[in-house]
Amino acid sequence: MKSVRHHIAIPHSKPTLGHEEIQFISQTIDSGHIAQGKIVSSFERAMAKNVGTKGAVACSSGTSALHLTLLAMEITSGDEVIFPSYVCSALLNAVQYVGATPVLAEIDPNTWNIDPEDVKKRLSHRTRAVIVPHLFGLAADLKPLISLGVPVIEDCAQAVGATYKGKKVGSMGFAAVFSFYATKVITTGEGGMVLSNSEDVLNRIRDLREYDQKSTYRVGYNYKMTDMQASMGLAQLDRLQGFIRKRRTIAQKYYSGFNSLPFQLPVRDDGHIYYRYVIRLEENSEPHISAMAKKGIECARPVYMPLHRYLKIEGYNRTERIWKKSLSIPIYPSLTENDFNRIIDSVVEVLGNSYRED
Ligand SMILES: *Cc1c(COP(=O)(O)O)cnc(C)c1O
Repeated sequence: MKSVRHHIAIPHSKPTLGHEEIQFISQTIDSGHIAQGKIVSSFERAMAKNVGTKGAVACSSGTSALHLTLLAMEITSGDEVIFPSYVCSALLNAVQYVGATPVLAEIDPNTWNIDPEDVKKRLSHRTRAVIVPHLFGLAADLKPLISLGVPVIEDCAQAVGATYKGKKVGSMGFAAVFSFYATKVITTGEGGMVLSNSEDVLNRIRDLREYDQKSTYRVGYNYKMTDMQASMGLAQLDRLQGFIRKRRTIAQKYYSGFNSLPFQLPVRDDGHIYYRYVIRLEENSEPHISAMAKKGIECARPVYMPLHRYLKIEGYNRTERIWKKSLSIPIYPSLTENDFNRIIDSVVEVLGNSYRED
């Protein structure tokens, strides 16, 4: 992309933080206990209760949460793990950490989530898990994936609070990983969590997460969350329903603002939390991302690079087409009415023009 810098008035992502977070964190600082402790445990219990699992283990990131999940499932070299090419490289990293073989799957052209039919074709006697991201806040089609008989790890990094057939995502697979990175739905700056109904897996992850005070030595990790981060997490979780309501309100404005444009808009679904609002164009989105930047609005391809490109594997045509033509526009709770009206006008102008020129 061109390196011309424009003044960005509206960034693509922005955390929603306020006095609640400041208050919770300053209480933790006052308590004198800032590393992993009671507040991390309450954040874990609150997340498990919110999603509906037996328990949770907080970690330093979504990546470390996934790494520990794969370790706890004893997935190792010679094993295969299936996940979509259309996702961030965190998944590929975690699978590589345990030495397993990544097997990339195609996505559904409508939802852009992993395609269960394609997963089925890629199953082998070595398949040990399928990682299922609920991309952009829309639940993937879990039912046919779970019925394949291979453990499903739900990746809820973009979908905390989203539902599938009325049930919260993160409660239906063998385990679920979450991320609380700064740009996610709720944040702790950096952070992650594993949720599961398997006490055995949760206990193993709890054991692997820290290295100190073990009676026998084996390779361990330091993947802990701090009480300072968990304080922010608790404040954010209190606000989650309000965040989701605001995201859905803005999404409705976008649907009506863009209904004259001949482009594919996100799937409408009652369980969608609109972590991202992604439009599929008829052509390469890069020139339009630049045109929006000139108007002070930062847009992006919501997946930086599909994994088959990193791994130099051919044949992911659907993923390739969708990736190139995808345009993600800002959507987050702190956008004002002025902001989203300006976004709508700019998108209609930029994309409307491109359409007429054709
Ligand atoms: C952000 C993200 C991750 C990784 O989480 P980190 O906390 O950045 O390690 C994994 N999967 C998906 C779908 C994500 O969006």
